[in-house]
Order: sequence, then structure tokens, then C-alpha cells
Amino acid sequence: MIRLHDTMTREKRPFVPLNKQRITMYVCGPTVYGRAHIGNARPAVVFDTLARLIRHEFGPKSLIYARNVTDVDDKIIASAEEEGVDPSVITERFERFYLEDMGALGVAPPDIAPHATAEIAPMVAMIERLIGLGHAYEAEGHVLFHVPSDPTYGVLSKRDREAMLAGARVEVAPYKRDPADFVLWKPSGPEMIGWDSPWGRGRPGWHIECSAMIRAHLGETIDIHGGGLDLIFPHHENEIAQSRCAHGGAPLARYWVHNGFVDMGAEKMSKSLGNVITPEELLKTHKGETLRLALLSAHYRSPLPWTENLVAQAKTNLDKLYRVAGDADPGEVDEGVLEALSDDLNTPLALSRLIALEDASAIKASAALLGLLEESSDAWFRGDSGGADVDSRIAERAEAKANRDFATADRIRDELAADGIVLEDGPGGTTWRRA
Ligand SMILES: [Zn+2]
Repeated sequence: MIRLHDTMTREKRPFVPLNKQRITMYVCGPTVYGRAHIGNARPAVVFDTLARLIRHEFGPKSLIYARNVTDVDDKIIASAEEEGVDPSVITERFERFYLEDMGALGVAPPDIAPHATAEIAPMVAMIERLIGLGHAYEAEGHVLFHVPSDPTYGVLSKRDREAMLAGARVEVAPYKRDPADFVLWKPSGPEMIGWDSPWGRGRPGWHIECSAMIRAHLGETIDIHGGGLDLIFPHHENEIAQSRCAHGGAPLARYWVHNGFVDMGAEKMSKSLGNVITPEELLKTHKGETLRLALLSAHYRSPLPWTENLVAQAKTNLDKLYRVAGDADPGEVDEGVLEALSDDLNTPLALSRLIALEDASAIKASAALLGLLEESSDAWFRGDSGGADVDSRIAERAEAKANRDFATADRIRDELAADGIVLEDGPGGTTWRRA
């Protein structure tokens, strides 16, 4: 029996899906305008692990896991303008990087990855419905959700109105009927990305995207809705309001699962604070499994302080697991590991039990549930060199290219490829990743 902490009720509850053959989970995905940092990777790894646990418990085909891609957003538009390219150039580039980085951390792609730009019609339909029901209104090319029209608003974050207004950091536009009202649709200038709509050419707000895509792909009420703690308010509160009001009061999700932040020193790791470390950077000196184990070494709801020691400890533990398990065939998952994971995904306890196991085939099977020990032990111990060597080889290759010695440049690329290192030439120079 899996138990999950539900943010809505603030307690751990037995996880009983609506339909055991079709369990639905939606996690808010990346806004693709920059490289993900290791804090962004935490929800990807946590919900990938939860997906593995659900499939272990209910069967490999029991779960539909959707994670969206926000590919229309003001930050994307700003990046595209800065580079003088179409927004799709930015979004395609950073979605590819995101999938590569998460793939390196052993995160399987979700079953469905809806893109906002491909789902404008269901968003427009939901907005029209909200207007028709008196929950939204048009004003100066915008459409706004009218918060006072929803008496249950605030049910997830449990904030009173004053805290909500402070938390929403709303710049109160003159066309808002109420300062808490939030944007469903906004106008686009002629040069800007936009779509025709009953309210003129424009683009969707962020919150409506998730509500409309959940409805289109999974249904009115899903089993699990996930994301980082920072999404509880206003994003998830707004998703709830939109969906409940559009669907006659049907709840959007039956379990709300939120992960804590990755911290740097005393602060949350975030782009706006400029204190980020990216998987791209970390993968030059560490293997993806090491980073994955590091991310799972604290309980998902707790803050995770990111330190060199954390990563070193993860590496030591993996070395031990690969040494003991070797290349044994996976057997039965250990009961102790399974019990820990089933108790609200208690990964620190599961890892300590895993590390204490002696039976190689049980280690293999239990580690797989955590997305670990996916390499052969030979590959693990062989591919142990850091990134300094690769950087010097890249410098050698750049010099060969500058001297028009393309045979040498190609030879270096091929030698690195044979070691599982893929080079990527871009405008800012050559970067590399593990294949
Ligand atoms: Zn969302």
C-alpha cells in the first residue's frame, strides 16, 4: 500500500487511485528558455521515482504520466528578441537540452508531453466556458479570471486574501475588477507570437495551459498533481480555480504532491538569485547516477542542501553498490526498500536499506526501483575519469581545427566518441556530454 502526503489535506493518506488500470499523474514541466539547474532536476527525478513505484505496485501499463512543456512565455519571447530568432528556435533548443540533461539523470520521458503552442484550441474553449459561466471577463484585449467568483479559492494554499494579494505580487492593472484576478489570455502585438481568438490576437497565460491540457489528455479529475513547493501559490491555486469552475465543481486532483527546494548555502537555488549549478556543468565531472542518488538522498519534501560532500557521498555509495551487486540478474525487490518507498517515497530510508543489503540480485532489483545501477559494473568503474581530460582534448581539437588539420580534429572527436563522450559544436564553442 502506497501512502502519499497530500498538500490539500496536509496529511499522509493511502494512495487509492480512481481506476487502477488508468492512474493519471500530471507534473508541471519546464519553461524552455534556458538551461535547467539541479534544483529544476529535483521534481523530474522525484516524480520519475514515484512513477516507477506506481508501476511496480499496479503494473507496468497502469500509469499515464504527463509533463507539459511551456513553450510560449514572456521570458521565451524576450530571449528570442535578444537573439533575433523565432521563439521556436529558443524552445526547441532548450527542450532538447532539458531532455538530454534529465535523460542523463535516468529520468524516463513522460508518457505524454503536451506543448502549450500545440494546445491553444482547448485553452480558448476553456476560457470561453469560464466567461460563459461568469467566472471570467474580457477587458482591453485581456481575459481575466474573476477570483471573487470562486468561493473556494485559496483551498490549497490556505492563504487569506491579504496574504494572497501580497504573494501574487500583482501589479494591479486598471482593467482588473479585483486585484486578485489573474490573466487567462493577453494581447500580442503584430510582431509577437500570437493566435487569433474571440478576444483578438493574443496568447495564453501560464495557468490556463495546465488546466486545459490536463482536461484534454487526462480528464477532469486526475489522481496525482505534482510540482515544486513554489507552485502551490499562485500557480496550482489558479489551476484548481479554473478547472473546478469550468467542470461544475469536480476536483482537479485527488492528491497534491509537492517537492522541496534544492538549497545553495542558506538560499534556494534559483535563476533569479544567480546561485545555480546545472546538470550540464556537473555531468562533466560526475556521472548522472551519482547526481540522481544525491537528489534522492533527502526526503522529497525536505530542503536538500547541495554540497560537494553530498555528491561525493553519493559516489561512494554507488561504488559500493556496483562492487557488491556486480552484474547480477535482478531478482525480487527487497521488502524493506519497498516499504520505505511506499511510505510517502522515503528515499533516504530506502537508500540506507539498499546499501545494507548483501544479496546481489535483490540489490539490482531494488536499485532499479530508484533508477540506479542501470550501467554494467564494468562501464561504471571504467568511465570514472573526470572532465579535465575531456576539456584538454577539446582544446587540442580546437587548435587542430584552427590549423586546418581536420584529420586530427576528426580523430579526436572519434576517440572521445569511443569513450562515450559526445561533442557539440555551437556558436559559443564546443561543449560535451556523456552519450
Ligand atoms: Zn502547471
